[in-house]
Amino acid sequence: ASAAALALTLTACGQNSEGGSEEDKGGSGEATVGIAMPTKSSERWIADGNNVVRNLEAKGFKTKLAYGEDEPDQQVSQIENMITQGVDALIVAAIDNKSLNNVLQQAADADIPVISYDRLILGTENVDYYASFDNEKVGELQGTYIVEKLGLKDGGGKGPFNLELFAGSNDDNNTRYFFQGAMNVLQPYIDKKQLVVKSGQTELTQVTTLRWDGATAQRRMDDILTKSYKSDKVDAVLSPYDGISIGILSALKSDGYGSKDKPLPVVTGQDAEVASVKSIIADEQSMTVYKDTRELAEVATSMVDALLDGRKPETNDTKTYDNGAKVVPAYLLEPVAVDKANYRKTVVDSGYIKESDLK
Ligand code: BGC
Repeated sequence: ASAAALALTLTACGQNSEGGSEEDKGGSGEATVGIAMPTKSSERWIADGNNVVRNLEAKGFKTKLAYGEDEPDQQVSQIENMITQGVDALIVAAIDNKSLNNVLQQAADADIPVISYDRLILGTENVDYYASFDNEKVGELQGTYIVEKLGLKDGGGKGPFNLELFAGSNDDNNTRYFFQGAMNVLQPYIDKKQLVVKSGQTELTQVTTLRWDGATAQRRMDDILTKSYKSDKVDAVLSPYDGISIGILSALKSDGYGSKDKPLPVVTGQDAEVASVKSIIADEQSMTVYKDTRELAEVATSMVDALLDGRKPETNDTKTYDNGAKVVPAYLLEPVAVDKANYRKTVVDSGYIKESDLK
């Protein structure tokens, strides 16, 4: 058993070496969980942080939550501080999946179990479990939406349609899974020339967006429109994340898209952020991928609870997520495609977004 689990047992027996009345809470009351989140610049991570804290506290854990402002070094020092302060477990959504090896070695040396949250941490054995969504499926939902909306799925040899591709941050392991999932669907149509990428930028390395930044994506879309669409129009844009979709839509609208003669292309997204669901209702963004972060927080909380209790966390995938040092056992949740037709049934009825916030 880990030192943390042992400490818990001792506490439960009233033998905690520190003594004093504070320890008499029983249950998980003595264990503290450090939670490192990547950024507050997007809604989902704020919700993730709040949900994880709420769930852990409901189980009697104490928590320390920190946001790294998308700065890898800042995240490393936040985690270092948590270790110094004696946390019993860590839940980490990495900013740069390769920057955490040293600090996670410190965690391992202190017997602190680590849950990789949403994004897999690479290149270290010191990741115990992975809680996420089926990331390849996210991309498949986006790719499938594009081919269905363009009417390509019925096999009628339609097209050619012009498509441009955007991917997430190159230091986020999810990026390649999202892109791969989408390209599994789109590539056959590109090969048949029913989909044409006029910019010629089809390799993942050409289409990533550092730190998922919407303004960066907007500049790239501006540039593509200027260089490759002087006399043509774009019919679809693969966008991996709502913040990026909003940037892409701004570039398109500045270029005159969104009128009768020049309708907006199909634009995908991810996270069901309020601004994007509103944009979907307004017929601008076409779809998003809803991932219920409340469920993810629940999974991560159960993993920590099990580990600190000496039990084996529940997993449903023990093959897919090789981080270069080991295959990390994972629990993957299902993502859901959302558009104007089903947003009520999905994000509103589940209580994820309040209908009044969409007004
Ligand atoms: C998450 C996505 C999110 C993106 C940008 C990814 O790692 O899986 O849900 O859109 O980061 O924050």
